[in-house]
Amino acid sequence: MDMRAETTETLIEQGDILLTEKEFEDFGSLTHIGRRIVEVKYFFEQLQEISSHPSLFQCNLSHISIVGEKRIGLISHFRLKCELCGQHFKVTSDYNKKQTNQIDINTAACSGIVATGVGYSQFEEMCSAMDVPIFTEKYFAKIQDQVFEEWEATAVEAMEVAAKRERDAAFAEGRVKDGLPVIDVYIDGAWSARSYGTNYKALSGVAAIVGRKFGEVLFIGVKNKYCLICARAEKKKETAKEHVCHKKGSSTGMEAAIIVEGFKKSLEMYGLIYGNVIGDGDSSTYAKIVAANPYPNHIVSKIECRNHLLRNMCKKLRTITKNTRYPIGHRKLVTEERIMTIRKVITSSIKENKQQIHNRDESIKNIHADICNPINHGFGDHRSCKDYYCNKDKSFEDSVIPQIENSVFWFRVRVIINSVASNSRSLYEDVDTNTVERLNSVIAKFVGGKRINFSFRRS
Ligand SMILES: [Zn+2]
Ligand SMILES: [Zn+2]
Ligand SMILES: [Zn+2]
Repeated sequence: MDMRAETTETLIEQGDILLTEKEFEDFGSLTHIGRRIVEVKYFFEQLQEISSHPSLFQCNLSHISIVGEKRIGLISHFRLKCELCGQHFKVTSDYNKKQTNQIDINTAACSGIVATGVGYSQFEEMCSAMDVPIFTEKYFAKIQDQVFEEWEATAVEAMEVAAKRERDAAFAEGRVKDGLPVIDVYIDGAWSARSYGTNYKALSGVAAIVGRKFGEVLFIGVKNKYCLICARAEKKKETAKEHVCHKKGSSTGMEAAIIVEGFKKSLEMYGLIYGNVIGDGDSSTYAKIVAANPYPNHIVSKIECRNHLLRNMCKKLRTITKNTRYPIGHRKLVTEERIMTIRKVITSSIKENKQQIHNRDESIKNIHADICNPINHGFGDHRSCKDYYCNKDKSFEDSVIPQIENSVFWFRVRVIINSVASNSRSLYEDVDTNTVERLNSVIAKFVGGKRINFSFRRS
C-alpha cells in the first residue's frame, strides 16, 4: 500500500469546526480510507443524482472516483471526480443540520457517549476497532457545549407548548376551577434512583413535573445547574421574581424543593393548577406540596397507583391471617382464594363503573359503593351483589359471615377493604405503575441534551 498517495493530512481550525482533510491523487492509489457512517437515504440520493450527470459522454457511476475527503468528526464530505468528462462533485455522509433540523451524527454520538456512560476514550477505541475515524476529545467538548446551549434555548419554549396543550385539554374537558384549568401531573426526581440506574448518576438532583394527559415535561430543575424560572426570565429579558433558585442551592432535599417551586409558580407561569399528583413513591414530597399551599382555593390531592393500592390490600389481608392474636377459626376463613376474589371484584367494579357511567363524580361514588360489597360476596353473602360480577343466587345461605360477624377480626378485615374504598378516586383514575415508570424515560429523553453537559465538567 502506497501511503504517499495521500498527499496531505492536515488539521485545520476553520471557524469553530475542526476539520481533517485528505487529498487523494487518484482512485487507484486510494486503497484504504476505512469505514464511515452514512445517512443511507440521503447519501444514496446524492449518488443517484451524480450518476446521471449531464455530459457529452456516456458517463455513469463507474467512471466516478473519490479524490478527496473533508471530515468533520463523523461527517465526511467527499470530493468526487468523473474520469470521463472531468466534472467534480461533492457528496456528504450526513444531512445538513441547518436544512433538516435533525441531529447530526456528531451530536448524536456525543449524546450516546454520555447516555451509555462509556466515555470518550472507550468510544474512540470502539470506533477505531471498526475503522471508523471520529472527532477529537476537544471537539467532543465543543459539541457538548453547543448541545447544552440549544437545550437551554429550546427547553423553555418546549415546556410552554406542553403547558398550553394541557391547558387547552383541561378547558375542553371542563376541568376548570374558578376559571382556571386543573390538570393531573406526575412528579418525579432522581430520588427514584432505581429507575435511572447507575448510568444516570449525572441526573442526581434532577426533578420534573410532567403533565398526565400528554406525558410532556412542564417544569424541570437541576440542582446547581438549571433553574427554569431564571431561564424564562432571561429569555424574556426580565429579572426573575423571587423564587427558590436551585441553580445556587445545594441543600439536601433539593428535588422536593424543585417540585414545590414548580407548583408554586404554575399559575404565574402557565395559568394552570396542578390539581392532582400521581405517584406511588415518595409521599414526603406530596406532604411538602400540601404544606406550601400553592393554590389558595384548591388542595392538591394525590392519586395513588391502582396496582399499588390493591397489592397493599392483599398484603394486609394475608398479614392478618398470620396474626395469632385472632382466633385460628376466623383466620382460616380468609383464604387466598377469597382474597383474590375480592381483588377481582374490585377491579371489575372500576371497569364497569367507568364504562357505564360517564359522570366522573357519580362514577367515583358508585365505585366506592361497589367496593364495599366484594367482601360479602367473597364470604358467601350475595344479597347485595350485582350481576356484572356475580352469577350466584342473590342469597345468604352458604355464607360464613355469621361465624365471625361480631368479632374484632372481622372488623379489621372490613377496615382494610374500606381503606381501599376510600381511595375510589384514585381507583377511578386507573393509574398503574407502568405509567409512572414510563415517566422516567420521558424525563431521560427530555434531558438528553442535559445529560451530556451536566455530567461533563461545565460551570
Ligand atoms: Zn462524466
Ligand atoms: Zn433561579
Ligand atoms: Zn356474589
